[in-house]
Amino acid sequence: MSETETPIVLSVVIPCYNEEEVLPETVKQLGGLLESMVSENLIHPDSHLCLVDDGSKDNTWPIIKELSAKSNQVRGLKLARNRGHQNALLAGLENAEGDVLVSIDADLQDDITVIRTMVKEYYSGNEIVYGVRKKRTTDSFFKRVTAEGYYYLLSKMGVNIVFNHADYRLMSRRAIEALRRYEEVNLFLRGIIPTIGFSTAEVYYDRAERFAGESKYPLKKMLALALDGVTSFSAVPLRFIAGLGLIIFIFSMLISIWALGIRLFTDEAIPGWASSVLPMYLLGGIQILSLGVIGEYVSKVYMETKRRPRYFIERAAGNAAGTKLQSQKTKYRTLA
Ligand code: UDP
Ligand code: MG
Repeated sequence: MSETETPIVLSVVIPCYNEEEVLPETVKQLGGLLESMVSENLIHPDSHLCLVDDGSKDNTWPIIKELSAKSNQVRGLKLARNRGHQNALLAGLENAEGDVLVSIDADLQDDITVIRTMVKEYYSGNEIVYGVRKKRTTDSFFKRVTAEGYYYLLSKMGVNIVFNHADYRLMSRRAIEALRRYEEVNLFLRGIIPTIGFSTAEVYYDRAERFAGESKYPLKKMLALALDGVTSFSAVPLRFIAGLGLIIFIFSMLISIWALGIRLFTDEAIPGWASSVLPMYLLGGIQILSLGVIGEYVSKVYMETKRRPRYFIERAAGNAAGTKLQSQKTKYRTLA
């Protein structure tokens, strides 16, 4: 970026659920960071924090109101009730007004100074910048193993996901507009955002302990999110049923041949065995296989109902570039 151009307005989106213990400190630290970035002319003085209260039951909202009354740097949104981290995050992303948005948790576990690096990556032309944890030493052994196993499983099922990246990321206005066009209700942002495309980058950081308070992600919510991640993106579990049915079917055919052999060529056949046991296997196999076939259609219907956008245009060249696409080119592109 050249010195003469106005820098971008940055919105930092922070979902908050019962975060009264950390919020004042979070706002203080992030506010300080924004100020120093403004003085380096990296971001515009209108840059701000967008705190989304996800239906907290404690003093989170009064604190947000108070902080926003005191400082232009702080803005707040209050959801009507607790809708969960992903929805709170989306509410912030869709409503924050900055040219560039960074999402981060309220608990200061993610190294906030990385935001500066993210913004620099944006200026070098990246529209989505992922914050990636270097190692998980601050997580418990259980959380580390399950989380890494889960990322592995997801990638095996064909879900495109950034390893060890949570929801700490920068998105340009264009990427946000793209995200807006995903209309699905079961939100798993980590899975959706890599499907948008555009130029992306990763920045690495160490994850710290929670600054104060307890995790707002109990095992139950974590499992629900994990399940959403699989079922919102992958029809592999349904295929698995079809595969299982096929295996049982083939297996029962083999046993039938074996039983027939015994009946024809030996005199060890147990009367009634083949006629009562074989149909069980055979029918079982056919039933599960049929379920799998139905599952295959259900998965198509499911994917259709999502009405996901099929493509986004990144840039155009030649004549087309000057016409309709011009309206999509925003002032921020010129900064790249
Ligand atoms: N959060 C939220 N709604 C919820 C649960 C969590 O907005 O229902 C927010 C929470 O305030 C925090 C972020 O999501 O800013 C991540 O939660 P937490 O740090 O407790 O999760 P962990 O780091 O333990 O996975
Ligand atoms: Mg946390």
